Amino acid sequence: MTQIPIREHALDLIGNTPLVLLEGPSAEAGCDIYGKCEFANPGASVKDRAALYIIRDAEARGELKPGGCVVEGTAGNTGIGIALVANALGYRTIIVMPDNQSKEKMDTLRALGAELVTVPPTKFADSNHFVHTSRRLAEETEGAVWANQFDNTANRKAHIEGTAKEIWEQTGGKVDGFTCAAGTGGTIAGVGMGLKELDENVVIALTDPHGAALYSYYASGELKAEGSSVAEGIGQGRITGNLEGAPIDTQFRISDEEGLDWVARLLREEGLCLGLSSGINVAGAVALGKQLVAEGRESPKVVTILCDTGFRYLSSLYNAEWLEAKGLPVFDWLKASD
Ligand code: PMP
Repeated sequence: MTQIPIREHALDLIGNTPLVLLEGPSAEAGCDIYGKCEFANPGASVKDRAALYIIRDAEARGELKPGGCVVEGTAGNTGIGIALVANALGYRTIIVMPDNQSKEKMDTLRALGAELVTVPPTKFADSNHFVHTSRRLAEETEGAVWANQFDNTANRKAHIEGTAKEIWEQTGGKVDGFTCAAGTGGTIAGVGMGLKELDENVVIALTDPHGAALYSYYASGELKAEGSSVAEGIGQGRITGNLEGAPIDTQFRISDEEGLDWVARLLREEGLCLGLSSGINVAGAVALGKQLVAEGRESPKVVTILCDTGFRYLSSLYNAEWLEAKGLPVFDWLKASD
């Protein structure tokens, strides 16, 4: 029997997440599609990894001192990761979040003891955008550091040294393709760089939601957004510091409807309750799997990220009224029976 080791500290629970074979997506693609279970991190999302690396990096550079404070602008998951790590290490947390993000994420941040500041959602160019607001707050707060997850490459380092290596070991070095969407771009860039270092033949694909500008950037060199998406935590309009030099070979654009269809199927057929970015990632992985099969790769294995738990979206994605209000299809089992 392989023994699961005792962890010496709660922070050691971050990372080393399981990889699960996804049956429906594999059947659809005609090859093995695996999901990296990032919802299994203590903060229930992929962002715990970046939070830990960013905080450890600030300590190592001498910027974050005992009793200090970490300030960040986030769609929520990074804030949750930072709040947990900061609690474990004795720091204060201030989180700035656009007020259109899920209520569950805001409630969670308050419950964890973070000081929450909400701002109206605006364009990045506006000075009161959540990212700029968080930078200003960090400058104004004694003993504070700004996590700056979008441009701080400690974020992608978490995936170069962690996620990519884990995927390599878990697949026994047999991985043909990797894809996920980008928020900060830390995951796609870090896993992409880490896997390419181990095997340059791994195909790295960006899966972009509608309303983001990266699909067109990697396809034609032009940052151009089309349409919109309700997916939280993904959909980037610029080349962040983390995305600079990301080894992207190909790209897919996935609609919310397609992502939601996978969210529904993964829940009802495989018992995985996930957020929409995971559904969009799985749709991208199916597209990549089909492409690799069509190109003649033998029994390709494709890996994607299951970014966060669906429990974070009970009042949105898993709520019939919310879905209707957004003009999105309502899951069959949520429809009121009369
Ligand atoms: N999915 C969710 C739910 C997220 O919160 C994030 C982080 N913003 C991502 C995906 C994207 O991760 P990254 O920032 O590494 O691009």
